[in-house]
Amino acid sequence: AVQFRVTVVGSGNWGSVAAKVIASNTLRLSCFHDEVRMWVFEEVLPGGEKLSDTINKNNENVKYLPGIKLGKNVVADPNLENAVREANMLVFVTPHQFMEGICNSLVGKIKGDVEGISLIKGMEVRKEGPCLISKLITDMLGINCCVLMGANIANEIAVEKFSEATIGYKHSKEVAERWVKLFSQPYFLVSAVQDIEGVELCGTLKNVVAIAAGLVDGLDMGNNTKAAIMRIGLREMRALSKLLFPSVRDSTFFESCGVADVITTCLGGRNRRVAEAFARNGGRKSFDELETELLQGQKLQGVSTAKEVYEVLSHRGWNALFPLLSTVHRICIGQLPPSAIVKHSEKPPKLS
Ligand code: NAD
Ligand code: 13P
Repeated sequence: AVQFRVTVVGSGNWGSVAAKVIASNTLRLSCFHDEVRMWVFEEVLPGGEKLSDTINKNNENVKYLPGIKLGKNVVADPNLENAVREANMLVFVTPHQFMEGICNSLVGKIKGDVEGISLIKGMEVRKEGPCLISKLITDMLGINCCVLMGANIANEIAVEKFSEATIGYKHSKEVAERWVKLFSQPYFLVSAVQDIEGVELCGTLKNVVAIAAGLVDGLDMGNNTKAAIMRIGLREMRALSKLLFPSVRDSTFFESCGVADVITTCLGGRNRRVAEAFARNGGRKSFDELETELLQGQKLQGVSTAKEVYEVLSHRGWNALFPLLSTVHRICIGQLPPSAIVKHSEKPPKLS
């Protein structure tokens, strides 16, 4: 019997690929309703057509994932309230800066038995401290929320090249396994670990490390320097995660969400690419300008995450403990030159 109806909240580059991956499984597996709703933040394309209409007509997101068929059972819906009405499995996948507003619009609009999962890499900073996106969703909507993170450049998964991902869950292994089932493909190997904060912080913090790696590329510093930056970055990611959440496990950093995501994002991600351009321009063009110029509507997460991390570190007096994470923010806002990424990261204090 069909029990579960899935809605994907978000339809950017990764959101569209997630809908494609899920839609092939809902057709195959009888416990899921075939149709997958996908909420589209509506926009009008240069030819005058609405994005949601073209997706439904051509079965393709021509703006954020051109050239890929999503599956005929993916239905684009520009009305958020309508898109979530029937769903009891909600997949959240938008740039993190929009989630608070989206949750506000969803309050009181979702069914009582809903489970959520966040594919969003980022966090919010509140007076009390950092608030991970899964926690924001849980707090604002009153639902349980797992996370899925990993070495997952969306365009590669779209053409079904093999990769892995990690689901982080808090309490229910049974719910985590339902999510594993929804996402698993022969080319997409998903495993679940009971360390939601560890998994989510990996996905969040690696975007700051990717900015550092892109700066190193833009400065033509070579592979050894880049590897050093990745190693120092990973070590700071682990240390900060454990300071914020002592329950975070070392083993999580060896899952796809940890070291593998650091590697792929530092080699081939958007944060890396824009940071390289920033360094090549000697900081004369801002990250915002370069994002608009290079990404055609896709969004960077690393620059705002670096700011959010910096606020947390400053508030707790931890800046000196995290030279790489702190320096990335100061470079992004023009307080330090791109070359500071190496000078300031090379003599880190001892971290556990
Ligand atoms: P994206 O970068 O393609 O972002 C653009 C999306 O934001 C579009 O759907 C656009 O319509 C929407 N948008 C623009 N303004 C908006 C607004 N005011 N309100 C709501 N939505 C608005 O998105 P993405 O690649 O799907 O990334 C979503 C999340 O997934 C991010 O946290 C990202 O880090 C993560 N992620 C991305 C990838 C990847 O390779 N793209 C891989 C893994 C994880
Ligand atoms: P970028 O946003 O830097 O492209 O990273 C994508 C990603 O998270 C890959 O896992």
